[in-house]
Parts: sequence; C-alpha cells; structure tokens
Amino acid sequence: MAEPSRTEFALGTVCTVTLFDKGKDQIYNDIFNRLREIENLMSVNIPSSDISRINAAAGIEPVQAHEETIKVIKRSVFYAEVSDGAFDPTVGPVVSLWGIVNENQRIPDQTEIDEILPLVNWRNIDINLEANTVFLKYQGMALDLGAIAKGYAADEAVAIIRNTKVKQAIIDLGGNVILYGEKKDKSLWRVGIQNPLETRGIITGVVQVKEKTVVTSGVYERFFEQDGKRYHHIFSPWKGYPSDSGLLSVTIIADNSMEADALSTAVFVLGYERSKTLLDLFPDTEAIFIFEDMSIQTTSALNLTITDKAYFLK
Ligand code: AMP
Ligand code: MG
Repeated sequence: MAEPSRTEFALGTVCTVTLFDKGKDQIYNDIFNRLREIENLMSVNIPSSDISRINAAAGIEPVQAHEETIKVIKRSVFYAEVSDGAFDPTVGPVVSLWGIVNENQRIPDQTEIDEILPLVNWRNIDINLEANTVFLKYQGMALDLGAIAKGYAADEAVAIIRNTKVKQAIIDLGGNVILYGEKKDKSLWRVGIQNPLETRGIITGVVQVKEKTVVTSGVYERFFEQDGKRYHHIFSPWKGYPSDSGLLSVTIIADNSMEADALSTAVFVLGYERSKTLLDLFPDTEAIFIFEDMSIQTTSALNLTITDKAYFLK
C-alpha cells in the first residue's frame, strides 16, 4: 500500500508530500527525485551545482548552466527589478559573511560589510540565452537562490502530480506550501500560519484557501541570538544586515509558488508600507503581515482565524 505521506530532507529543509487517494510509491519517488535534481542544480552547498560553478567563476568567465537554472536566475532578476532590489539573488556574499548557512554565525564588523556590499547587485548578472551561460561580472560575487528555489521546486512537484490520477495533494517544502486540487467535500483547505516567534510547526492562525500556494518568510527560519537580539537570515541588500522592516513574517498566498516565494522575501525586506506598490503589480496575490508588536494585518480577501491570543488583528 502507498504511504499516506512522505517526509525527506531536501533543498536544505524538511519536505513533506501528501498524496491523497491515488498516491503511489512511484509518484513519491518521482517527486523526491525531482526535488533532488533541482537541489543538485541550484544549491550553494553542492560544489558541482550550476550555482556553485557560476559563483566560483565570478569575475573570471561565463559558465554554462542547465536551461532550468537559467530560467530561475532570469526570474530572480525579474523579481529583483520589480522589487527595486529588495529581493536580490546576488546576496550570497552577505549570507556567507554572517555564516547563517555554514553555521559560523557571527556579527561581522562594519568594515567587512562595507567591503562586500558593492558585490551585491543583481544588475551585474550577465545571462546569455543563446550560449546558456551566466557570468557574474566581479570576483567575489555570489548567487543565492535560497529565497526562490523552494517555490520553483514546489511548482515542479505539482507538475508531476498533474500527470497522475492524484486529484488532491499537499506539498510542503519547509513551509513553502502548495494545496493542490479541490477537497472532496468541496470545503476550503485549512493552512496553519507559523507563529514567527516559535519553532516550526507552532501556529498563530489558520487561513482557509482554495487551490493555492501559501509561502511564508520570517524571522524564525534560520537565526542566532546575541545579547538578547535576534539575527535572522533575510538580509537587506542595501545594508548587509538582517532586514528590520518591523515585520516578524510575511505570508503570500498566490497561484504560483516560485512567485510567492520571491515575493514573500521581497515584501519582508520592503516592509508593509513600501511593499504596496510591489503587491499592486500582482493583483491575485494576498498577503498576511505579522508585525513586531504582534499585530496582524491582511489584504482584503483573506479568511484568517487567529488561534494564538498573543496576536491580534489590526
Ligand atoms: P526565504 O525564506 O524564502 O525568505 O529566503 C531566505 C533565504 O534567501 C536566505 O536564507 C538567503 O539564502 C536568501 N536571502 C536572504 N536575503 C535575501 C534577499 N534580500 N534577496 C534574495 N535572497 C535573500
Ligand atoms: Mg522566499
């Protein structure tokens, strides 16, 4: 008998896929193989990945990459452009400096930050679509697709499911969630919204949605604390510091998970006020903002129930 769901570590996070009814072991295998395929192309932690090879050749030469990698880099540049650089796939040097990924977490000196900040600029990515190459113009530049790759991977998992008899599924790639299909009783999907001050899995509310993707960026995902202050993994590309726009988390509810992933990061960096013009460009997108004072604000059409009394709707 097929499993009711499968959980594995992939893309640097815990991934759970739940296939209802016609789920078969083979479909689970296909999905997780696909997630690994994407990870092998796009992870900064795998030396042979396209992204690692592009980074190693920064300032030296263009690197040939898989069409798929180029597609995601191209979309990243688009989201960088529309978010005025709040989302910036060249944030790699900042991520490394703070040691958020390689576990050497520390607060860098301002001089170190000043040194690398000029390297963070999505305009210095050269994509050659004819040759299928990517060139980072300056030595020391580094791509990091951590804010978009999980969304892309979730969309690709759904692409596999569409070719099967499975009519309902939940894809959860470390909180990057897709609700696939319509529930049998036609009721809405209920999705927990992470409590941004608690460890993963503890929720502050429940949102009810149709077939949608629900993606959250927040201060809880990766962080360290020093002298009572929290330093998290979403950086201001302008300051080289963890973004402090007054938000604890942003949840984006949309149709495309790659888009929701990029937007959740961009909106988190921009903050509530400055994200309005960006969100206006994506009319079918809803958002939940959780602020540092524990207040919550949502865009108009959302059905959110707060379950943790410490939080309140504005
Ligand atoms: P997410 O959880 O989707 O918001 O993505 C956060 C991850 O994206 C971090 O772990 C970094 O690898 C990377 N990242 C951090 N800050 C930014 C930024 N401003 N723009 C793009 N990627 C970022
Ligand atoms: Mg993101």
